[in-house]
Amino acid sequence: MGLFLTFSIFKNKESKAVEDELRKFASSVNGGFEISDIKQEDPNFCSILIRDKKTIVTYPNYFTEYFQSSKFLSKSLQERVYTFNIYDGDYWMLYIFENGNLSARFNPFQNYWSEKEDREQLKTWNFDLDKFCDDFSIASNSVAKYFIEWKSGNRDTKAYKGDEFNYGDCFQVFDLLKRSLISYSDIINSEKKATTFKLWTSSLLLQEVPKITFDDIRKSKRYTKNYLKLTPEEIETILGVDYGWFLHNATKNQMCFNCNSRDTEREDLEYYLSIDELLVRTTGHCKKCGKRLGGGWGITKIDKLKEVLER
Ligand SMILES: [Zn+2]
Repeated sequence: MGLFLTFSIFKNKESKAVEDELRKFASSVNGGFEISDIKQEDPNFCSILIRDKKTIVTYPNYFTEYFQSSKFLSKSLQERVYTFNIYDGDYWMLYIFENGNLSARFNPFQNYWSEKEDREQLKTWNFDLDKFCDDFSIASNSVAKYFIEWKSGNRDTKAYKGDEFNYGDCFQVFDLLKRSLISYSDIINSEKKATTFKLWTSSLLLQEVPKITFDDIRKSKRYTKNYLKLTPEEIETILGVDYGWFLHNATKNQMCFNCNSRDTEREDLEYYLSIDELLVRTTGHCKKCGKRLGGGWGITKIDKLKEVLER
């Protein structure tokens, strides 16, 4: 799976006020919010960074309730909340919330899904570039070119001279945010400038970080440098997902760069565990052109991996 990353940006607030509201939000969804010295890899990582007249809240990687939290913050703090979401490393999307409601959306990659209903969810709607530039204190001519649709004509070209990322790359959003002096390291807190918390809800439970190391994995009974065949039950244990969902994800809506299709199916699916890479490798063929499509699924539940390897 690619990168999933969600963060909200709004006008400068006292860190304490933001913290209090996030705690209220967490308890409203049967969860909690506690200060904790943790890294972004932690499944419950959340950070608050006050930076250049902006407040940045980064949510846990697989946090799905960002609509609710953004609505909550926009209402309780009485600020326009800009929530950015990077989806599976494939595109970025911006949602704007005002006074408890979603008020606008921007998505550069609106044809990502093949189903019409899915595409409707991603359509740009009511987005006002001038308002955005006003709130981010940037000149519109220095960012306007980020707010156009990704098409085959602009793919793999850059919006502005000096940019790091191309159209079609979800990281282009960081070229955009750089104009407002916000960097990727601010978002993932790699320079430890933010205050960090554990955030959990009824659907994102508080997870114990396993104390198992990679050395423990190497000593387990079935450890091998080669690929290991997995049963459906082992897939469920290691990845923590339903087997049907795994199959669906590994076969439907695949991207094929050979025939330039982003909604093909992958046939003859096979999957293996690569222990040294902490990956479930998947392979198969593009249904449209027959080209081999490889892929992988990162293993984050290292304790579960050990459990399976000891069987
Ligand atoms: Zn193909």
